[in-house]
Amino acid sequence: MPLEVVKPKMRGFISLSAHPAGLKRIVMNQVNRTSLIEGGNVKNTLILGSSMGYGLASSIVSLFGFQANTLGVCFERPPQKNKTGSAGWYNSGELIEIAKANNLNYQVYNGDAFSQPTKDAVIDYIKTNYGQLDLLVYSLAAPRRIDEKNDKVWNSTLKPIGDTAFIKNINLQNHLFEEVEIPQATDDEVLSTVKVMGGEDWQDWIDLLEQNNLLSDNFKTVAFSYIGPEVTESIYRTGTIGKAKENLEATAAIIDSKLRSASPNLEARVSVNKAIVTQASSAIPGVPLYVSMLFKLMKINNTHEDALDQIIRLFEDKKFHTLEPVLDADNLIRLDDYELEDKIQSEIKNRWQDLTESNYLSLIDLEQYKQDFNQIFGFDVDGIDYTQEVETDPKYSIMDIGE
Ligand code: NAD
Repeated sequence: MPLEVVKPKMRGFISLSAHPAGLKRIVMNQVNRTSLIEGGNVKNTLILGSSMGYGLASSIVSLFGFQANTLGVCFERPPQKNKTGSAGWYNSGELIEIAKANNLNYQVYNGDAFSQPTKDAVIDYIKTNYGQLDLLVYSLAAPRRIDEKNDKVWNSTLKPIGDTAFIKNINLQNHLFEEVEIPQATDDEVLSTVKVMGGEDWQDWIDLLEQNNLLSDNFKTVAFSYIGPEVTESIYRTGTIGKAKENLEATAAIIDSKLRSASPNLEARVSVNKAIVTQASSAIPGVPLYVSMLFKLMKINNTHEDALDQIIRLFEDKKFHTLEPVLDADNLIRLDDYELEDKIQSEIKNRWQDLTESNYLSLIDLEQYKQDFNQIFGFDVDGIDYTQEVETDPKYSIMDIGE
């Protein structure tokens, strides 16, 4: 049982270490903020990408909002000699323990969700334990996808399409303002990003579940997208990742019409979510700077939300789990409505134009960003004494897919 003092080991947009006690506290805080959700009929849930960000919030809402049997799938690093586990490892283990203590059923497979062994294990688990599935949340944010069918590895890139982009940014190593030049993507990079972050794998999952007769007559599935503001457009919405999101949205329409031909109660949707601080979003040039400005303005406006607020709103306000979800004209669920409010975005545009290395600190909330970022890894959490030793290899019942 290794007991050790855990310090942050930040390397740009990741930390090589994670603090189990800090993460436990954050997971517990989210659980305590989740109340029962009325309506719908959600008994058995699968969350792909369950250990961090939007997927973790979805797991918590599935458990404590719906009291549903919940199966999570994530790809995390267990503790190793001289190395803590990854943050998502501790989030998953702690949520299993908290669920157990509340007589709720949460199980997690740690493995590559794109791979056939993971898909087979999940299908077997659902057949044996659930019978049928009511909800699938697709929340993967992955750097690569090993495509076994075509014997190929696809890598996701974050690049503009058609032209070089110059992006205002915060360097996450030293927190200084910078402008980075990002060359345009090649056609191969666009295709590769669509293969990783587009809808193909989501559709594979749904097809597989359908072939195995595992969809209940109430089944619903949702994947998450982002549109974002004009100031990040060249790197996000009109860039490689934006092409992948367009593909995800188009795939939702295909899955939805296929499901509906089986039963009008079945549904597949994309929810366009707000920008939040996660491991995935921190890797996108310009986004940490944008988010630091956005949060400052949304707090003043009293509309700031985190991942949990958003997922609660997906069900409570947007009623995704019912037969009458709130959709926009393109059949998308819009949880980015407060982020894209005119008064917020016009202020962002003005401030963005004025940003320089000498004034950026007065135009953004860098301290809040740093705290949110540190908290992804369990650091900078109120009430945790970081001078104390903690158990870094608790015996969680996370199920390993293996190779
Ligand atoms: P995140 O980095 O916080 O979490 C990613 C999750 O995916 C983790 O649970 C990780 O273990 C899992 N994962 C990664 N590769 C995997 C693999 N091969 N197999 C199984 N699991 C794997 O990500 P996030 O920011 O919450 O993003 C989730 C989704 O939400 C993405 O589609 C993202 O584009 C979308 N989204 C994010 C934001 C944002 O600001 N963060 C905004 C809108 C939409």
